[in-house]
Parts: sequence; C-alpha cells; structure tokens
Amino acid sequence: MKWVLVTGALGQVGSELVPALRAAFGAERVIATDIRPFAPNHPALEGPFERLDCTDRAALQALLERYPLDAIYHLAAILSARAEAQPELAWRVNMEGLHNVLEVARRARCQVFVPSSIAAFGPSTPHDPTPQDTIQRPNTLYGVTKVAGELLCDYYAPRFGLDVRGLRYPGLISYTAPPGGGTTDYAVEIFHQALKYGQYTCFLGPDTRLPMMYMPDAIRATLELMQADPKRLLHRNAFNIAAFSCTPSELAAEIQKHRPDFKMYYAIDPVRQAIAESWPHRLDDSAARAEWGWRPQFDLASMTADMLEKLSGRAVPKEA
Ligand code: NAD
Repeated sequence: MKWVLVTGALGQVGSELVPALRAAFGAERVIATDIRPFAPNHPALEGPFERLDCTDRAALQALLERYPLDAIYHLAAILSARAEAQPELAWRVNMEGLHNVLEVARRARCQVFVPSSIAAFGPSTPHDPTPQDTIQRPNTLYGVTKVAGELLCDYYAPRFGLDVRGLRYPGLISYTAPPGGGTTDYAVEIFHQALKYGQYTCFLGPDTRLPMMYMPDAIRATLELMQADPKRLLHRNAFNIAAFSCTPSELAAEIQKHRPDFKMYYAIDPVRQAIAESWPHRLDDSAARAEWGWRPQFDLASMTADMLEKLSGRAVPKEA
C-alpha cells in the first residue's frame, strides 16, 4: 500500500482526487496539503491534512521526512485567468513550486503526478484536432508555465530516473468544489446558476469551442496513468486526454433539454475570450489510448444529466 501527498488538495481537482486516493490507499496514508486552511465539511477533511506552501522547499522536505511517501500528486497552481492578473505569483507557484516537488521527489525516489493543460498550446498550434506532439507557443503566462513544466518533467525523468507522469487536462466540469479562476469556469458556473436562477450570463462567446471533461473521467485518468506499466509509456508526461468538446451555446442547449425555461445571455470578457481563442477546439488523445488504454466514459449529454442530478437540491457555492 502506498503513502501519497497531494499539494493544492482543496482545489477543484484535489477535492475529488483526495477521496479517490483515500478509497484506493486508505485515508490515513493520503496526506492532503494546501496553502489554505481547510474549510469545515470539506470532503478532503476525512484524513490527514497539513498546511503547505509549495514554494517553501524546506517545509515540503520536512513533510517527506515525517511521512514514508511513495508518490506526490502536485496540484497546487495558479490557473489561467488568475495568472494573467497576478503573473509574478503564478510564475512563483507554478514554476518554483514544481521545481521544489521534483527536487524533493528525486531525492526521496517518489513517483510524481503533474497536471498540464490545454493552455500549453497557443494560437499557432493546430486546433482541430491538436496532436499529441505539436507546436507549443502559448501567449498566456499560465500556458508558458505549463509548457516549461512539461519540459522540466521530461528532463527529470531520464536525467534523474524520476518516475514523473502527467496529463493535459481539458476544461474540467465538477460539482464538489468551485473552480479556481480558469477560462473554462463558465461550464461549472452555468449549472449552479441554471438551477438557482434559471439563467446564466456567459463570459465567453456562444461559439467558443473548447475541449471539456467531466471530473470522474479526469480522476480515473489520473489514477490509471499512475498505475500504467512504465514499459508501455513512450510519452510519460503531458498526455492529451479527450472526452468531448462543446461551445457555450451547445452546453446551454443541452441544459434546456432538462430545464426548457433556462435562458443564456452573453457578456464577453475580452481577456478570457482571447485566452479561449488561443486554445484547441479538440484534442487528439490517440497516444493516451495506445500507451495506457485511456477511454472516456462521459459525453456532453451524460455529463449534463449527471451534473443536474447531483446539484439539484444543493446550496449554490458563493463563488458560483
Ligand atoms: P484550483 O485553483 O481549484 O486549486 C489549486 C489549489 O492550489 C487551491 O486550493 C490553492 O489554494 C492551492 N494553492 C495555490 N497556491 C499554492 C501554494 N503556493 N502552495 C500550495 N497550494 C497552493 O485548481 P484545480 O482546478 O484543482 O487545478 C489543479 C491542477 O490541474 C493545476 O495544475 C491546474 O493547472 C490543472 N488543470 C486544471 C484544469 C481545470 O479545469 N480545473 C484544467 C487543466 C489543468
């Protein structure tokens, strides 16, 4: 049985990855950490929690000395829209934080999981579909840190024999925790607002097509990649994974199949619109399918039905 540490555990991904890891390895063996204190009733609460700023290497090292860790899932990051507003913070957290994790992990011989993103692509990337290996010239600071992070992981694997693996997550849709300041956040907010007010004003234009994924698929992909036979992995890091692509108007139409009175309005945020337009419409995930058997389970219709069912009757989080 493994001991694992999760950074950024209170975020949108960590809130669902921590319970999944605890189900797999035992609650007491999964150390959830975040720079924030945990909120009462948070699902990541049921087990060990430590405050950790990933830019503090000494604090991270101290945790590796306290727990016999086998793996680190490094989720702490500043996401796209927030990174444009706070570029220095984003550089420090996304780059120094990652470097710290890779350094302590190589010394302790831990396995490492590092998520990348569709933000690692840019305007000159082929957008439909975006190949696994292609041009990566992003024009956002978040994207720059994601490409640099992918390269750093690729460097650490052969140079230090570090077993570091990663996925390029599409926009993630989930109901447990609110999203943390990304460009695809609309696809989560729309569900909360549809149920509470019967309408939503979207900050992206109606025809902005982006790759999306329902969180249960993203969590399963993470666990499957980390368990995959290393001999079959030609890439290891930064695998494209795809489930479905949609535009805001297509998502609204899908919600209207369940809630016919739902109304969608648009007030475009130029910053997030420009970011979205530089990203892929669809990802080619054939490398993930061939190398470790990736298959999504949720499409737009089944994700929408499940989100509405799970959220019905729940309180709307303040951030939505
Ligand atoms: P999030 O913003 O919801 O959560 C990030 C967490 O990191 C927060 O809880 C925050 O408190 C914590 N954090 C921030 N600075 C920290 C620091 N210095 N030290 C420790 N913790 C710190 O993000 P998320 O959606 O859970 O994303 C997790 C990972 O997945 C990130 O690497 C992100 O780039 C990637 N990703 C997410 C999406 C998405 O749609 N959510 C898409 C693509 C990639």
